[in-house]
Amino acid sequence: MTRLETRLIHAGEPRLLGAVAMPIFQSSTYIFGGEKSYHDIRYLRLNNTPSHTALHAKLASLESAEAAVATASGMAAISTALLTFLAPGDHLLLQDGVYGGTHDFVTQELMGLGVTHDSIDAGDPASWEPKLRSRTRAVYVETLSNPLWRVGDLESLVAFARKHDLVSMIDNTAATPLNFRPMDHGFDVCLHSCTKYLNGHSDIVAGAVIGKASNVEKITRRLNHLGGCLDPHAAFLLHRGLKTLGVRVREQERSAIAISRSLESHPAVARVHYPGLESHPDHTRARRLLQGFGGMLSFELHGGLEAAERLIGSMKLAVDAPSFGGPESLVTRPATTSHAGMSPEVRRRQGISDSLVRFSTGLEAAEDLIEDLDQALRR
Ligand SMILES: *Cc1c(COP(=O)(O)O)cnc(C)c1O
Repeated sequence: MTRLETRLIHAGEPRLLGAVAMPIFQSSTYIFGGEKSYHDIRYLRLNNTPSHTALHAKLASLESAEAAVATASGMAAISTALLTFLAPGDHLLLQDGVYGGTHDFVTQELMGLGVTHDSIDAGDPASWEPKLRSRTRAVYVETLSNPLWRVGDLESLVAFARKHDLVSMIDNTAATPLNFRPMDHGFDVCLHSCTKYLNGHSDIVAGAVIGKASNVEKITRRLNHLGGCLDPHAAFLLHRGLKTLGVRVREQERSAIAISRSLESHPAVARVHYPGLESHPDHTRARRLLQGFGGMLSFELHGGLEAAERLIGSMKLAVDAPSFGGPESLVTRPATTSHAGMSPEVRRRQGISDSLVRFSTGLEAAEDLIEDLDQALRR
């Protein structure tokens, strides 16, 4: 098998009619071919048009998986996957500090459907078994949690899921397939917000489920009913964006390391959270499990909330906006954006202070980003 960088370019490229680049198939419906099953009828919502088939092959190859399905957003992938494996009365083990939208979906939507959950510390395997119930069906974690970039004991987690017959689900958005490939570690279902690094250009929302063919098929059938399909134009952009994932992420990572080190030695900075720093609580585990540490970091200033706001307002290059993984650096306070749906108590329990600043490293020159942070920190 070729290397990931090569598969990003050549997997899922059917070269239809000799076209080197995958064209957009802007058609909602296709001539009936006598398909026997509803799910095989070629129709855009049924996720089986040429745009989808090519994209699915590329997505599956990124994580050496049997299959993949693209979705209208990361939350469409996450919600559809959870709804596929959890029924009323079932119980879910959910990592502490997951993405705000996922947390809100589990606490507000799944609870309403009679699915209960307990939070787990993904770094503390001894604490998991006491939380099991007779109807525990799945365990859900993130490779790198946002915005503190904690890395759980993912090897023990897979073993625990197997032992207790749970579906193991992992959101690999922040790590990307470049730095972690869940299938190689035995996870059942991998989820992505392709809005972030996979598309990489801050111009679409999209998601993906990657995994064993039997799991992806179950989830696709749910998706066909729920309707969260990816539009062909967005599918085209994601397909195109994926080709440069390798060079983008490696470059963003190089800059993120340089920025983290520069911030760590800055007198105005109290604490830097980046898994590539020796000071990060999960640095050793991140080194063992991940091929790289990614392009995201966060930090606390000695001046607290007021200093954080002043810094964000004074940055000239980094844009004050949520989301991450695009070509332009973004800076935000998670308490007001990605994690605003959580109550202040829940945020505090998870170590997300109101003054925490998150930085998504873009593709600008690292020196310019360091200078920009430096001038903003001087204010
Ligand atoms: C952004 C994000 C999501 C949600 O993705 P959308 O494309 O915005 O629906 C889910 N998980 C993680 C880790 C994210 O960063």
